[in-house]
Amino acid sequence: MKRRELIKYLSVAPVAGAAIGTGVPLESIASTVGTAAKRDVIKELGLRVFINAAGTYTTMTASLMHHEVVDTIEAASKHFVMINEVQDKVGAKIAEMCHAESAMVTAGCWSALVLGTAGVLTRMDRKKVSLLPDLSTFEKTEVIVQKAHNVGYVHALTNTGMKVVEVETAEEMERAITNRTAMMWFLNSSGPMGKIKHEEFVAIGKKHNVPTMIDMAADVPPVENLWKYNDLGFDLVCVSGGKAICGPQSAGILMGKKDLIAAARLNAPPNGGNIGRGMKVNKEEILGMYVALDKYIHTDHDAEWKMWEARVANIVNSVQKVAGANAEVFVPPVANHTPAIKITWDSSKIKLTPREFLKELQDGSPSIEVMTSQDAINITVFMLKPGEDKIVAKRVQEVLAKAALS
Ligand SMILES: *Cc1c(COP(=O)(O)O)cnc(C)c1O
Repeated sequence: MKRRELIKYLSVAPVAGAAIGTGVPLESIASTVGTAAKRDVIKELGLRVFINAAGTYTTMTASLMHHEVVDTIEAASKHFVMINEVQDKVGAKIAEMCHAESAMVTAGCWSALVLGTAGVLTRMDRKKVSLLPDLSTFEKTEVIVQKAHNVGYVHALTNTGMKVVEVETAEEMERAITNRTAMMWFLNSSGPMGKIKHEEFVAIGKKHNVPTMIDMAADVPPVENLWKYNDLGFDLVCVSGGKAICGPQSAGILMGKKDLIAAARLNAPPNGGNIGRGMKVNKEEILGMYVALDKYIHTDHDAEWKMWEARVANIVNSVQKVAGANAEVFVPPVANHTPAIKITWDSSKIKLTPREFLKELQDGSPSIEVMTSQDAINITVFMLKPGEDKIVAKRVQEVLAKAALS
């Protein structure tokens, strides 16, 4: 069978069957499959693809990896390596890039929160590792969290069996520290809402010898945040890999004190009999995460910001061409800190609900996703591919104009 015919055959027959049926050595099939399989599975399965003008949302698969990351994943997929050696080498590089003592790649920021917390509870005690989430024999079982920070993400911490102790002021926090206190947790995106700021929080932790952890999942840009919280003295820092950093969506970073990272790794694969065994990252995600972080740190962030502003201007200009429509530009202070647009309209001039607006955009060609609120639609531009801002600008204008009452 000629190579071309074999490729055709492979697209309809299972690989093993092809080998038996043709007498072609399995080896040559293995080398063919990787290069020849130009199946368009997305099309085959009829999956809707869309322009992401919403942001880095897990439900929308968050971000797109750069080709360097995809190339790394592909290259890594061709070799066997020891996973602990990959974590050691990549961890050392990430730690150096982010001013931490040590680091590991996790299966997302959520996984970093769970594994970091588990490490704080167990340290290097394998018996304790095997007990989580049953903390009935543990002395330290509590995590202190500011009230304004006590949102859904704490479930990552309570997964380990830990109990949340809520406080509001620094005095309350100091009073809440007892011999049961295992950790103090800071949600960076809620930083402006809480009474206790980073420096004071870390100082209280150090004074009472309680480890501090910060969740800064979505909080680059600015890029400096990658080292800022290590420099400030947090013992553990948790970041998402698949948001603005554009690493693998199933990757994140846990970094901080050497002993705590070692303990977190005891609670993670390839070790088993622990709480983290299901939070697996293979060489592809670990190496992909490393390359994505390296690329992100070396990006020209000023140029990127200017590009986002140009995209925003295109969309705002289009909206303003429709009488009764308004576009306001804002930059969230922490988390998803990029230029964003809030589109509102005068309901006496344009008859449209935000849900209807969204549906029109989703059902158009190409399909577009945005976020809706009570009275507006919100657009971000940092997940757009080059040129897509013009498409979004045109579609948004069309939908508004169509709904305009004449
Ligand atoms: C996204 C997010 C997480 C979860 O991160 P993943 O990388 O999706 O696991 C945790 N905390 C905050 C504040 C987040 O925004």
